[in-house]
Amino acid sequence: MTEVKAPVDKRVPVIDAQNIVKTYKMGDIEVNALRGVSVRIFAGELASIMGPSGSGKTTLMNILGCLDQSTTGSYKLDGVDVDKLSDDQLASIRNRKIGFVFQSFNLLRRTPAIENVEQPLIYGGIGMRERRERSRAALESVGLGDRLKHHANELSGGQQQRVAIARAIVTRPSLILADEPTGNLDSKSGAEIMCLFQRLNEESGITVIFVTHDQRIASHTRRVISIADGQITGDVAVEDQILACPDPAVVRAMPVLEKAKR
Ligand code: ADP
Ligand code: MG
Repeated sequence: MTEVKAPVDKRVPVIDAQNIVKTYKMGDIEVNALRGVSVRIFAGELASIMGPSGSGKTTLMNILGCLDQSTTGSYKLDGVDVDKLSDDQLASIRNRKIGFVFQSFNLLRRTPAIENVEQPLIYGGIGMRERRERSRAALESVGLGDRLKHHANELSGGQQQRVAIARAIVTRPSLILADEPTGNLDSKSGAEIMCLFQRLNEESGITVIFVTHDQRIASHTRRVISIADGQITGDVAVEDQILACPDPAVVRAMPVLEKAKR
């Protein structure tokens, strides 16, 4: 009998989290927010982490996003062991590898769109000329080439979220983490944002993870990882993924995302 070796999985995990435990201590009380979570997410995936309120989503996102560290467990981001890094090193990894998109946009409201997008490049030490050029290209790639100088508070909710997405992609991150990105938007603007994420993932190959309580949002991704009570309870491929971009012709007429590419 010939032995058949299992194929070696050569894909590189962007996220490789094993046995993550997070315990919050509040005086004498301990809250076990994550109780042994293991998850691998590979380059180019479009996935969601879905669970009810209090299930540990934000705790997990904070750890995956290097905003916080686990109590025990191991976490490699893009092959880098982030467990033992200092706060400064974590901040630097966040800036280089992760783009965040939040429900509440988190923009500087009285500041032009282009300066909002420049923020992570300033932190990253990129010079003025390159900063401007890359920020303009990122805003063009989300369809806001004609709104560079508008202050954030002069834009609609959907446009503000697109500025936030431009800010997330301008550093050319390995990973975008989006926490309920359509939670504050009407359904039409929400669909435009989901279309944009699907295009970014498809055309630029950026790994995107949504953290959501919403089954419908999760159905826009190709993989749904369910979490309940601090543990992973399911991990399934989505067969009938919702495609948010309305019509291929409309999509082709939108500004090219290529410009935001590496
Ligand atoms: P979700 O984002 O799914 O709603 P969270 O990750 O925010 O869930 O919270 C998971 C559990 O951890 C909850 O029981 C919550 O009360 C608790 N928790 C979250 N953050 C803290 C904190 N900073 N201190 C103490 N307990 C916390
Ligand atoms: Mg939360």
